[in-house]
Amino acid sequence: MSNLMKALAKTKPEEGLWMQHAPVPEIGPDDVLIKINKTGICGTDIHIWNWDEWARKVVPLNLITGHEFAGEIVELGKNVTDLALGQRCSGEGHLIGKESRQSRAGKFHLDPDTRGIGVNEQGAFAQYLRLPAFNVVPLPDDISDDIGAILDPLGNAVHTALSFDLLGEDVLVTGAGPIGIMAAAVARHAGARNVVITDINSERLELATRVADVVPVNVLNEDLKDVIPRLKMRQGFDVGMEMSGNQAALDQMVEAMVMGGRIALLGIPPGKSPVDWSRIVFKAITLKGVYGREIFETWYKMIAMLQNGLDVSAVITHRFQSDDFRDGFETMKAGSSGKVVLDWT
Ligand code: NAD
Ligand code: ZN
Repeated sequence: MSNLMKALAKTKPEEGLWMQHAPVPEIGPDDVLIKINKTGICGTDIHIWNWDEWARKVVPLNLITGHEFAGEIVELGKNVTDLALGQRCSGEGHLIGKESRQSRAGKFHLDPDTRGIGVNEQGAFAQYLRLPAFNVVPLPDDISDDIGAILDPLGNAVHTALSFDLLGEDVLVTGAGPIGIMAAAVARHAGARNVVITDINSERLELATRVADVVPVNVLNEDLKDVIPRLKMRQGFDVGMEMSGNQAALDQMVEAMVMGGRIALLGIPPGKSPVDWSRIVFKAITLKGVYGREIFETWYKMIAMLQNGLDVSAVITHRFQSDDFRDGFETMKAGSSGKVVLDWT
């Protein structure tokens, strides 16, 4: 291996990302070096590309971006005894601290000192990635690198979807982005009765029906309340998953829920959202915020489901070579694609 690798980095404080030659990371005793095969582009990467207010505040210059990846282990730190060279893997991109009460209680996903690869620390849009061995998730042979590269957002979907019991329930997902679509597929797999997914983009709703057996509703043309009698539901939805970040969507969801309904919120609104809290109180609705993935319970569950018939492969709509990353980012920015995967091999 030469000491230089290709890497997609934020080298200038302006819109864009640039392919660089960067040093191959040196690993510490508890790390592994991963040769990257495939990566997924995330909405977060688009914020970093656009260099918006959030990105300017959070992301250091010269950062290698990217946090959704699959690859194989090519070097082991000297303390790493439970992983092998050549092991195919993905991994948790949240690097946790070990000091907080939450971490010491084993609730790693609630650690307040978490740092993200590709956001705060050098990321995965490169030929090689350094990762703590703790964060590595080995991939079984029957899970492809393409799927390995989207386990991070699938994990967001699984974490959200498994927040509440789904068996036999009527489920509403607002937002048919890649994560909403995958969450709808998980709800179906987990035994929900009806799974309704909303969006204002008909291409995305169409994609949702190709990935899973769901009822698409375009809230620009159809009132969610009309869907309830159409599907012979009594009052409304038992479980809601907000996956759009759109302020109107949460409002619509609250209106369409049953008394005592449960809502998990993954979508990130742009700022403070007007919500009619009295509706939430009088309907006795439970709200749960969802961040990241449960480390490592979500990984365990999603790999088990993938091996047990959950098929989200159709959510990957575009594949590009890493050198054609600009096409990948343009496709993502157009806002109608599913997951976009870059090939680094
Ligand atoms: P995305 O932007 O690709 O998808 C959002 C979808 O919502 C779009 O298709 C959009 O057309 C749709 N939408 C807009 N207005 C709507 C409305 N009124 N009703 C229904 N749908 C509407 O996003 P994604 O990558 O699928 O991610 C989903 C959300 O989750 C985003 O808000 C993202 O920021 C957030 N996210 C949160 C976490 C976390 O840890 N909490 C992690 C990843 C992503
Ligand atoms: Zn992501």
